[in-house]
Amino acid sequence: MSISIILFHNNLRLHDNAALTAARETGGVVLPVFILDENLGRPLGAASRWWLHHSLACLDESLREIGSPLTLLRGDALKCLKALVDETGASQIFLHHGYDAGVQLFEEDLNHWAVECDVQVHRFGGHVLFPPEVIRTKQGKPYTVFSPYWRECLNHPERGSPLSAPTELRAPNKAPNSLALEELDLLPKGVDWTGGLADSFVPGEKSALKGLTDFMSEGLLGYKAQRDRPDMVQATSRMSPHLRFGEISPRAIWTHVHHAMDANPALQTDGDHFLREIGWRDFSYHLLHHFPTLPRDPLRPAFAKFPWREDDFSSLAAWQKGMTGFPIVDAGMRQLWQTGWMHNRVRMIVASFLVKELLIHWHEGEAWFWDTLIDADPASNTASWQWVAGCGADAAPYFRIFNPVLQGEKFDPEGTYVRDYVPELRELPKKFVHHPWDAPADVLESAGLRLGETYPNPIVDRKLARARALEAFEQIKAQK
Ligand SMILES: Cc1cc2nc3c(=O)[nH]c(=O)nc-3n(C[C@H](O)[C@H](O)[C@H](O)COP(=O)(O)OP(=O)(O)OC[C@H]3O[C@@H](n4cnc5c(N)ncnc54)[C@H](O)[C@@H]3O)c2cc1C
Repeated sequence: MSISIILFHNNLRLHDNAALTAARETGGVVLPVFILDENLGRPLGAASRWWLHHSLACLDESLREIGSPLTLLRGDALKCLKALVDETGASQIFLHHGYDAGVQLFEEDLNHWAVECDVQVHRFGGHVLFPPEVIRTKQGKPYTVFSPYWRECLNHPERGSPLSAPTELRAPNKAPNSLALEELDLLPKGVDWTGGLADSFVPGEKSALKGLTDFMSEGLLGYKAQRDRPDMVQATSRMSPHLRFGEISPRAIWTHVHHAMDANPALQTDGDHFLREIGWRDFSYHLLHHFPTLPRDPLRPAFAKFPWREDDFSSLAAWQKGMTGFPIVDAGMRQLWQTGWMHNRVRMIVASFLVKELLIHWHEGEAWFWDTLIDADPASNTASWQWVAGCGADAAPYFRIFNPVLQGEKFDPEGTYVRDYVPELRELPKKFVHHPWDAPADVLESAGLRLGETYPNPIVDRKLARARALEAFEQIKAQK
C-alpha cells in the first residue's frame, strides 16, 4: 500500500486543505508531519511560538480523531524528510506552497532531491485567495497599488468551494518516531508571560471556525463603519492569527461571507468591505512574492537614504513598553504586550509615531511586532510597516503624520480603550484622557495622576518632531 506524507507548515487545518485531501484520495496510508526548522526563513517570534505550540496540539487532536496522529520532527527540514522517507518507505509528499524566501528555497531543494530519489512531490495553493503569480497588470507586471490590484482580483474566475475536512485517514501500522510537542521548545522558559495571550485568544482550527461564525452573526453588520474603533471589541473579526497559521483558509472566509450576503442583502456593503481587507492580506503576499527583499529594502528606493535618527534606545524602549506619555500609543503598545494582538487603527497610530514622531527606522518597529504579535506575518507585517513609513507600495504619504491626540479622540471617543490598557488614566475625565498634560492641577489630583511620576510626560514635543520629520523627508526628496 502506498504511503503519503502530508507536510503541514502554514496550513494547520483539516478543512479546505487541498494537500491533505489529495493525500487521502490516494487511498493509501497518510502520514501527517510537522517539521520545526528554525533555519527555514526568519525564526518565529516569541508570541508566534506560543501560538504554534497550541495550534499543533489542536491539529494533533483533530488528526487523532480521524485516525492518523501528527508526527513532530525538529531540525533541517529536508534532512528530516529524507530520514522519514527512508524510515517509512513513503513515495509521495503533499504540501502547500509557501511565499517567504526560506520556504521557497526549501521547496526548490525538495524538488531536486525528489527527482533524484523517485519520490513524487505535489504542491497546492490555498494560503491566499489569488496566487500572486497569476495577478498581473495588462503589461504583465506586478501591481503596486491596491485598488487596481483588487479590481483585477475580482475579475478572476470563481475560486471553487472549500473542501470538507476528511473524516478518516489510514494510519501506518507502525507510527514513525516523533518528538513530543514539548520537545519543540516553543513555550517560554522561566517566567510565563503568556497568560494574557491565553485569556484573549484560543489557537486552533475549531476556535478559528467558531470565531468566524460568531463574527458573521455579531460583527459583520456595521463592519465598515466600526472597524476603526478599538474600543469596540466585536467590531473586527480577530481572524489574523488563525489566518497566519492557516487554521482557516481565506477561501472558507470568502465563501461564508458570500453565503451570508446572498442570504441577507443588508450585509452586502459590510461583507464587501471585509473581503477587501482580506484582499490587503493577499496584496501583501503579492508584494512579497514579486519583491522578495520587501522585509529589508524600501520599495521606494529614495528611502534607502532616509536619515533615520540614531536612538539611544530610550525612546524605542519607551515606545515598546507603552510609556511614551501619549495615551493611545501607550494603550496600543500595552495591548500588544498583554494580549499579543493590536487593533489595526492603533497599529497605524503607533507605527506612525515611531517612524515619524521618533524618527526611528521602521525595521525596529517591525522587529518588535514580529516578536510580540501572535499574527506576526512575513508578508503583512513588512508590507504594513513600509506602508506606514511611506516607503512601501501604495504607501501613506510620508508627510501625512497621524496626530495621536486627534486619532484617539476620533476612534476612542469615550477613552474606553485607553482606560482598559492604561489604568493610570482610568479616573481622568473623557475631556483629557487623550491629552492629560492639558488637564488642570485639580483634575489631575482628583484622578490620582502625577505626570512625570505615575504616568510619563510626553517623550517628544510633537511640533518639533513633526518639523524634524518633514525636514528629513525633504532631504530624500532633494536627493531624488
Ligand atoms: C504596522 C502594521 C503591522 C501589521 N502587521 C500585521 C501582521 O504581522 N499580521 C497581520 O495579519 N496583519 C498585520 N497588520 C494588518 C492588520 O492590522 C491586521 O491584519 C488586523 O488588525 C487583524 O485584525 P482582524 O483580524 O480583527 O482584522 P479584520 O478587520 O477583521 O480583517 C480581516 C482580515 O483581513 C486581513 N487584514 C485586515 N487589514 C489588513 C491590512 N491592513 N493588511 C493586511 N491584511 C489585513 C487580516 O488577515 C485580518 O485578519 C499590520 C498593520 C499595521 C499597520
